Amino acid sequence: MNVIHKRADDWRVEPNFTDYEGTRARFAWQDAPDVCEGMEGGGCNIAFAALDRHVHGPAATRTALRFVSAAGSDGAVQTQDLSYAELAGWAHRFTNVLRALGVGKGDRVFTLTSRCPELYVAILGSLRNGSVVSPLFSAFGPEPIATRLTLGEANVLVTTKALYRKKVATIRDRVPSLRHVLIIDGDADDAVPGTLGFWPLLDAAGPEAPIEVTTAEDPALLHFTSGTTGTPKGALHVHGAVTMHYVTGRYALDLHPDDIYWCTADPGWVTGMSYGVIAPLLHGVTSIVDEADFDAERWYRILESQGVTIWYTAPTAIRMLIKAGPELASRFRFPKLRFIASVGEPLNAEAVWWGQRVLGLPIHDNWWQTETGGIMIANTPAFDIKPGSMGRPLPGVEAYIVHRRDDGTVAVVTEPGVDGELALEPGWPSMFRGYLNQEQRYRDSFVDGLYLSGDLASRDSDGYFWFVGRADDVIKSAGHLIGPFEVENALTDHPAVAEAAVIGIPDATSGEVVKAFVTLKNDYTAGEDLRRELMAHARTRLGAAVAPKQIEFTDALPHTRSGKIMRRLLKARELGLPEGDTSTIETVERPDVQEVRS
Ligand code: ATP
Ligand code: MG
Repeated sequence: MNVIHKRADDWRVEPNFTDYEGTRARFAWQDAPDVCEGMEGGGCNIAFAALDRHVHGPAATRTALRFVSAAGSDGAVQTQDLSYAELAGWAHRFTNVLRALGVGKGDRVFTLTSRCPELYVAILGSLRNGSVVSPLFSAFGPEPIATRLTLGEANVLVTTKALYRKKVATIRDRVPSLRHVLIIDGDADDAVPGTLGFWPLLDAAGPEAPIEVTTAEDPALLHFTSGTTGTPKGALHVHGAVTMHYVTGRYALDLHPDDIYWCTADPGWVTGMSYGVIAPLLHGVTSIVDEADFDAERWYRILESQGVTIWYTAPTAIRMLIKAGPELASRFRFPKLRFIASVGEPLNAEAVWWGQRVLGLPIHDNWWQTETGGIMIANTPAFDIKPGSMGRPLPGVEAYIVHRRDDGTVAVVTEPGVDGELALEPGWPSMFRGYLNQEQRYRDSFVDGLYLSGDLASRDSDGYFWFVGRADDVIKSAGHLIGPFEVENALTDHPAVAEAAVIGIPDATSGEVVKAFVTLKNDYTAGEDLRRELMAHARTRLGAAVAPKQIEFTDALPHTRSGKIMRRLLKARELGLPEGDTSTIETVERPDVQEVRS
């Protein structure tokens, strides 16, 4: 077994987390730091912990957000810094804007914009107001927007002139709850009918806005899942989740106050909110916000020129960098970078090693879901990495492998190395509190006192968890249960392969056989010889029963906008079946991994 060992001299700063067993044994959520301490009324509000409490502390003048603009025609980028105090000032005014409009606690504020300062001001100002925030990804078309605004009973939408005209104006009358649309680039001379100008209202608003006294159980955020396995679900989260964001920011991302941190996820997805907005602010670090789309060279340049110390990204993005080739990477140096983490999809072992070789650091995979609201299982500074594993449960998280019984109960699997469903013991603070309008579905996800994740995994004798696949994606072939990740991992181990996706297709003898779709790195060309070579490579790694029977080369795989391979779509297309909900599909030819979120 290949393992990446951690040594004391690997760290340029003393990590927050070094003693895995000891910390887990001592940890209890009720003893976790109270990041809302000092909030008037003894309440709990994410924006108090993330912003208000810094205003009179050492972080007040520190840069909270550094926006890196898209390149101008001369190729130059500009940066704009907002300090903690400045961000808080604007957020306070935005709270007043909402109050003046009669928008209050529990009302729903949706955002639909690119990653610009106004987005962060609107999110934090709304949370301060006790309103529930639902960030939408700006590349959604009118239908997914209409569905989410309707389902979420939006009262306010913050967007841009162009997005409103193109995507909202035509569907607005289908959302009767939507009382106000605030246009961030609106001005008096060019007002859009039926909307209000964000900045004129903000400029007119007073700077003093007492925070709404919310409790830990008051709703704060509404996130829609990625839609990888079906129609996206709306997951409701509460203010008390902030404790999870703080603790995991310490243990899984090793945030220290002087870090320059870059989370590449858009706040339209849960990673971009929990770890792109909330956790970094809680820890008083400086966050890089890239306003532009993915480009391999640009990303390497940002890492280098901004002196990023901690980088949280996603497997699809990493595989795109790998695909771009070693020559590009060799033009950059990352002496400041000290910790890299990834989430959203299985991270193949080769990608972890690539990080070690090319960036000088291994990539720490971690696992969680929209429903969990925060990182649950992770590779951390505190233990060695087994590339290909998602790591171990964080302090305060109890994870199990279970089998469902026919009578509707579950059996906890105690032997190591057995595949089963990944289940979690409720009690972590950021657990979702409901699926919007799907009460029964929410209840059904808890069985015998455990939350069942819908993902299959196994646990080894050292307590490391290994992803097998989504329960929906598992292939049943000649009596074997085959997890797609195992096969994909073997294929991406081959030097020619950039990305692989595996599905089961019906077969008269075996029930199903494995079919793989493969994209190649830039220097390789598809052909019969390479197909045969990959078949042989997979058979050697996996054995004939598990190796793919068919391999198809393709230029790109269908991804969700949050960067996940949509195996259900590959399967539907292969079998000529209806494609189902495709509202979150990435539509450009080349997967645009700027849109990679958890
Ligand atoms: P939907 O629930 O709508 O089908 P989704 O499950 O992709 O979409 P998210 O909540 O954004 O929506 O994604 C969580 C899922 O992503 C997890 O359940 C898991 O399947 C996958 N995932 C996240 N991190 C990892 C990881 N490190 N390794 C393997 N899979 C991961
Ligand atoms: Mg899911």
